[in-house]
Amino acid sequence: MRHDEHGRYVPDRDDLDCLTDPAVSRYLQQLGYSPEYPEGEGFALCLTHDVDDIYPPLSHMLASLPYQAGREELDWFRRSLLWRWKGRASSPYRNFMDIIDLEDAYDAKSTFFFLSTERDVRRFRYDIEELEADLGSIIDRGYSVGLHGGYYAYDSLKDLMSEKARLERSLGQRVLGYRGHYLRFEVPQTWKLLAEADFSYDSTFGYGRHAGFRNQMCHPYLPYDLDEERSIDIIEIPLNLADMALFGLEMGKAWEVMRTLIDIVEKNRGVMTVLWHNNMFSSPFRRDSLRLYRKLLDYGRRKEAWIASSDEVWRWFEHGYR
Ligand SMILES: [Zn+2]
Repeated sequence: MRHDEHGRYVPDRDDLDCLTDPAVSRYLQQLGYSPEYPEGEGFALCLTHDVDDIYPPLSHMLASLPYQAGREELDWFRRSLLWRWKGRASSPYRNFMDIIDLEDAYDAKSTFFFLSTERDVRRFRYDIEELEADLGSIIDRGYSVGLHGGYYAYDSLKDLMSEKARLERSLGQRVLGYRGHYLRFEVPQTWKLLAEADFSYDSTFGYGRHAGFRNQMCHPYLPYDLDEERSIDIIEIPLNLADMALFGLEMGKAWEVMRTLIDIVEKNRGVMTVLWHNNMFSSPFRRDSLRLYRKLLDYGRRKEAWIASSDEVWRWFEHGYR
């Protein structure tokens, strides 16, 4: 089994060949498994955002330089420089309410995964205590907050528990969901630790660089521990599409990948989980990413999907459908 520099499993050819076929979900359907959704929708789009940065790092500013043509871009650049003087709240990546305004227009909801660690492989990110007002506004608008586990947390119960407690102190309520930074995950160990740290669900399981159904499921499920021959007490909401998986594709091709996956999930009455980082919504060099996200929302609305946060999906599968 191969791993990359971040310790992530590197898929081999056979795995990639099956990525667009949720064969296990198809089989379950043949056995009569047919989830229902809150308003009778045929399938779900589960929206999530990992908040890696709230202040544009130098690399993003440099990448944005060639885009400084229009007024909007100039304004972005000015804000990227000025927050250091004008106050941190004016940073263009403190854009949670903009994202919520966009999703509200589609009657959607989403979950924001925040970091609450000081240790990172690249650079210092942010102090979660600074964001208490933002967290409160997210909750007030009916959206939810999960833990974006630090780079070193995936195999450490101590780190998972202390990061969860720190986020909960700022949030003022219990955190249900988890997604690891860089999607770092060890099977089945991370699931077991997450259950022990009292998380209700995880949504890390997928590939950052490839879109599709990693274990051929397009439904939430209870992971099974083959060594101990029992299921682990946590729900996995598998990640199917991350923005990074589409980097480098031209717009038409990227949309084709997304649309194909949505159609497959619809056919299987499944849940398609999407990760769009918050900086995608306000980086001049990521305009296509924002366009793609709008297309996703449009298409989901037209297909009458249930467009929900991962907290809502968890709640539905835990208390509603099952
Ligand atoms: Zn991250």
